Amino acid sequence: MDTHCPYCALQCATVLTPGGPHGVDVGPRDFPVNRGGLCRKGWTAPAVLTAPDRLTTPLVREGGRLRPASWEHALSVAAGGIRAAREAGGPDAVAVFGGGGLTNEKAYQLGKFARVALGTSQIDYNGRFCMSSAAAAGLRAFGVDRGLPFPVADLSGAEVVLLAGANPAETMPPLLGHLTGAQLVVLDPRRSATARLALERGGVHLRGTPGSDLAVALGLLHVVFAEGWWDREYAAARTTGLERVRRAAAAWWPERVERVTGVGAAELRRTAALLGRARRDGGGVYVLTGRGVEQHSTGTATVGAFIDLALALGLPGRPGSGYGCLTGQGNGQGGREHGQKSDQLPGYRRLDDPAARAHVASVWGVDPASLPGPGRSATELLDSLGTDGGPRALLVFGSNPVVSAPPAHRVEERLRALDLLVVADVVPSETALLADVVLPVTQWAEEEGTMTNLEGRVLRRRRALPPPGAVRSDLEVLRDLAVRLGQPRERFPADPRAVYDELRAASAGGPADYRGITWERLDAGEALHWPCPGPAHPGTPRLFTDRFAHPDGRARFAAAEYSPAVRTSPAHPLYALIGRVLAQYQSGAQTRRVPELAAAEPEGFVEVHPDTAARAGLADGDRARVVARDGTALATVRVDDTLRPDTVFLPFHFPGEERANLLTEPRLDPVSRMPELKVCAVRLEPLRARGPSGAPESAGAWDFPDARGFPDARELPGAAGRPGAGARDERTGRT
Ligand code: SF4
Repeated sequence: MDTHCPYCALQCATVLTPGGPHGVDVGPRDFPVNRGGLCRKGWTAPAVLTAPDRLTTPLVREGGRLRPASWEHALSVAAGGIRAAREAGGPDAVAVFGGGGLTNEKAYQLGKFARVALGTSQIDYNGRFCMSSAAAAGLRAFGVDRGLPFPVADLSGAEVVLLAGANPAETMPPLLGHLTGAQLVVLDPRRSATARLALERGGVHLRGTPGSDLAVALGLLHVVFAEGWWDREYAAARTTGLERVRRAAAAWWPERVERVTGVGAAELRRTAALLGRARRDGGGVYVLTGRGVEQHSTGTATVGAFIDLALALGLPGRPGSGYGCLTGQGNGQGGREHGQKSDQLPGYRRLDDPAARAHVASVWGVDPASLPGPGRSATELLDSLGTDGGPRALLVFGSNPVVSAPPAHRVEERLRALDLLVVADVVPSETALLADVVLPVTQWAEEEGTMTNLEGRVLRRRRALPPPGAVRSDLEVLRDLAVRLGQPRERFPADPRAVYDELRAASAGGPADYRGITWERLDAGEALHWPCPGPAHPGTPRLFTDRFAHPDGRARFAAAEYSPAVRTSPAHPLYALIGRVLAQYQSGAQTRRVPELAAAEPEGFVEVHPDTAARAGLADGDRARVVARDGTALATVRVDDTLRPDTVFLPFHFPGEERANLLTEPRLDPVSRMPELKVCAVRLEPLRARGPSGAPESAGAWDFPDARGFPDARELPGAAGRPGAGARDERTGRT
């Protein structure tokens, strides 16, 4: 059975064969993005299908505990709570939170469910934490946002690739197979695996102060203009705003950039020359951004500056060159096109566009005036839960915001304040543990559907196994809830193909037009990238070859102004970078349940330069408190002399007291509403030594149950309560 990996946006092609301890064995398929490769997450993905605590029956909170329930009872409790919240507070009293891992059909149906069945404007998703800055900058520059506007395979012809805040050696290793012939320039405050690779091959590692990437981009632009590496003809024919960006870059001569960022003036000049000379001589040049430069309150401006650099060099739309963003989550691209974002309708249409509302309402069979307007962004939505004027009920599909959303302590507090929390998931995530109703749903190998990978290519996900127990698909859950809320059953089909066909109709004529990408063409193996406006259309693997998507066909320079993303202080003198590791994925809800991956990365850690560790009284293997302005996280020290002495690194995949998002500073990008996820100011303090059991001793900052997954799963059927838990309500914390 041919399908794709359930994790990241590369969507490596796999083949599933019956057998093995999990019902299917997985192997790689030869496919343009992965060329027969998989990373360890892909190889071990079947283990999540049979996770020991896999949710197989609905759960309803009674007497403070989650207890097994029938679907009828669980859905009735959910629908009753939704009705009660709406009667008390109107349609916006109910909110929906989706995920970038949901299939296109689920994301589409979730948006429709929110706007039609609930009538709420309060819907957003965790892709806001991933892609929103790059999407906003791409829309502004090009008039359309598609992560890579060219096929991944085009990278194989590159002569020079600038990776700004991207570490594919850990986040999507098969991508490196496309970069073997390229000189790499890596911008990253850490000597990441990708940065090491660049140096081994004679490339460049630009190691600036965390949060200073925008100044580095302006410095590169300065040299490109000053040294004449820019493409005059391209700028004149295909862009607007050149003079503004030249003025903005003029103030960022390399020596000034070196003082501000720590990136040497000589390295800047060498990088600009590498890029400029390759472009001038006809070589392929790519500028790629990742979360390192995007997940900031200055993310849109920073990505805009790197797009400016690409435009100045004349790359976007040039055959064999380009700018792109390495999208993160499995359906991070499709998930932002079909309506689960607070301001969007299917087809990447704007919710505030009257023509878009009329078109989509006609597909949905409703009055355009009945559709709500744009709602709160993810961080603002989560922050408003249970407050005066905020939603009183929340439905979560495909997300674990207790771990993945910032600031973690505030998110958990707001979730506990709700009158109703409904979570649909495959495992009892930390968010599901707080729910009033938990709905067990299918996962990748148990369902049909489509995903859209980082290059805008639509892919088929196929069902190889029946789901276990009483598990239902998310589409069935949405249909059953919609019917209980008074919607006609036929308006919410649960057949993925029927939903996909409706999605195609809803997307028709929009920027992300799927009309011609039929189920049959996908099953026949055609490589179809959107837009594809008709059944005979070949799809659009490469955008911008003739024109950009703005009405005048020209790209816009952004001409961003620099401000540092974060400032340290005497009380918090270190930068904490927050990122990913190879063996875990996102909140870790799935990968922490895979034995091989859990063994490889079992706990939260903080990488520290040896001098910095010594100053804090810490040694390798010690437990440390990482103290930020608004929160504290615990982590095991890993001493690493490749780090900058002013910088530490923490992964964000771990729960409980080890949640890196406990440290996040409360700032949002003014355009994308991206939180300041990537960096914050901290200090390190020793924690007491490990206890005799070997278990880390808490400093008492959190009274959070089940810091490692879900030990209560053993007790769930007929559970009488955890030892010592008494009648405490685990969600609200009340007894
Ligand atoms: Fe899966 Fe991404 Fe790894 Fe490929 S690179 S196997 S899609 S996690």
